[in-house]
Amino acid sequence: MLNRRITFARIPRGLPVPEDFSRDAVEVARPAAGQFLSRTLWLSLDPYLRNVMKGHPLYGVPLRPGDAMYGETVAEVVQSLHPAFSAGEFVVVKNGWQEYALSDGQGVRKVDPKLAPLSTALGVLGMPGLTGYAGLVYLAEPRPGETVVVSAATGPVGSTVGQVARLVGARAVGIAGSDEKCRYAVEELGFEACVNYRSGDLRELLKQACPAGIDVYFDNVGGDVLAAALGNLSIHARIVLCGMVGAYSMDSPPPGPFLGPVVTARATVRGLVVYDHLQRLPELQRVVGRWINEGRFRYREDVTEGLENAPAAFCRLMRGENFGKSLVRVAPASG
Ligand code: NAP
Repeated sequence: MLNRRITFARIPRGLPVPEDFSRDAVEVARPAAGQFLSRTLWLSLDPYLRNVMKGHPLYGVPLRPGDAMYGETVAEVVQSLHPAFSAGEFVVVKNGWQEYALSDGQGVRKVDPKLAPLSTALGVLGMPGLTGYAGLVYLAEPRPGETVVVSAATGPVGSTVGQVARLVGARAVGIAGSDEKCRYAVEELGFEACVNYRSGDLRELLKQACPAGIDVYFDNVGGDVLAAALGNLSIHARIVLCGMVGAYSMDSPPPGPFLGPVVTARATVRGLVVYDHLQRLPELQRVVGRWINEGRFRYREDVTEGLENAPAAFCRLMRGENFGKSLVRVAPASG
């Protein structure tokens, strides 16, 4: 049996292109004692993979040309010589961009397909959801009536931030890259307002959307968007620096934003690394899972069919053309 893989070919220059990836097919490996073999069902495409491709030390994943691309997946155990995993179970495991992989069970968590669609374990009820939920609730501590602004507002992190803000009684204002995304944020996700940063002077647009200033700014983008938000802070604002997607595809770092207003507003800037909050994953699943079941919380997925289309889909994500949690459907679940 063959295992089709998308491999890392080279470090992209600027925005990734399909030629930065390659493909091959190798024999499916057999598990040794203490291992299991799983079949990839869903592959998560995330902006941080662009940093993995340039060997950023945060991730500790030294990719060499010819290695299967790195990535988190939902997979079905097909053969197990591991005491804690049995065939037929579903797991979140870093199989990477390939159809089959072995695991020793480290860092693997099981998912119950009865609780929620399997794909949500990579999005709203997984790492990006936890990033938005834990980052907002525990780092920004939003209070009822406050204005919470989030960039990349319709992505899995941003849409969680905005909806959690709304559900704890704050006023959610999004920043997104198109009128269509902004309409979705307001009409579907319940943001009070959403500004399209391509439609004018963002600092001015934010001023109009947040007349009392920004109490919490959750930054997913960095650069000029962060600078525009910094120009609208209210006193004692809290800022969560979550991601800098705008810079991931730059070959040299952009000039830093002017951080003077942070000082003037006595704001607190805190870095967020989701892995510090892994113990809160059950809470995310309980709280947001219930909201989803009650129809009070929505999520959106941008699904690409077939592993072979993963490179193009990833490139689309990195160009900002995805709309919702970017996923690849690698294979249907059995049964
Ligand atoms: P996502 O929103 O689906 O990410 C892509 C979006 O970023 C695009 O759709 C685009 O939306 C926006 N974007 C803005 N400027 C861009 C640019 N120059 N190039 C490409 N895209 C641009 O992704 P996500 O998974 O929810 O992640 C959002 C942010 O959180 C990312 O920065 C990610 O790295 C970060 N993150 C951090 C942690 C952590 O532990 N700190 C964990 C997970 C994710 P618009 O059109 O609306 O601008």
